[in-house]
Amino acid sequence: ALTTASEDVARLTRWADDFPEPGVRFADLTPVFADAKAFRDVIDALVEVGDGADLVAGIDARGFLLGAGAALALDAGVLAVRKAGKLPPPVLTREYQLEYGTASLEIPADGIELAGRRVLVIDDVLATGGTLAAAADLLTTAGAEVVGIAVVLEIESLGGRSRLAGHPVTSLLRV
Ligand code: AMP
Repeated sequence: ALTTASEDVARLTRWADDFPEPGVRFADLTPVFADAKAFRDVIDALVEVGDGADLVAGIDARGFLLGAGAALALDAGVLAVRKAGKLPPPVLTREYQLEYGTASLEIPADGIELAGRRVLVIDDVLATGGTLAAAADLLTTAGAEVVGIAVVLEIESLGGRSRLAGHPVTSLLRV
């Protein structure tokens, strides 16, 4: 499943130079998600690291699409890890560094019991790892166990994987 998914991603990803800032090579996975076979292959490969997960956390915003698909495949629930200001209080917030400035991710602090949940965390791209590290940290703080982290594309030169130490990380394609 991993090989097929890797081929789909390599074939369908659209690369944009100098977006959204000069010097960034942006990976747009829109054509991967829009292709029925590729989407199915990608979901099947992502969930392989999520064995035993009862909740899938998808990161704002493209992680939502993948997270919902993966949750159905695993018979798990789904949790949207939101950018700051989208959820009503009370929330748990984690601020993290971006290349320029900071950003925050939030999850509800009420309404769902996260203690003891086994969570698979999903996003589209692993770049510097700051986003996924913040998400994993939030979930761990809430008492959940992060059983795996899965991304479609890993930009290896940015070294994000080293910031996720202690968690099994799967990427379908490394560039
Ligand atoms: P990072 O925190 O640096 O690992 O960045 C990860 C987040 O930013 C993910 O949610 C990605 O969707 C997005 N991102 C960062 N760099 C890129 C890139 N070169 N192409 C596409 N998305 C990116």
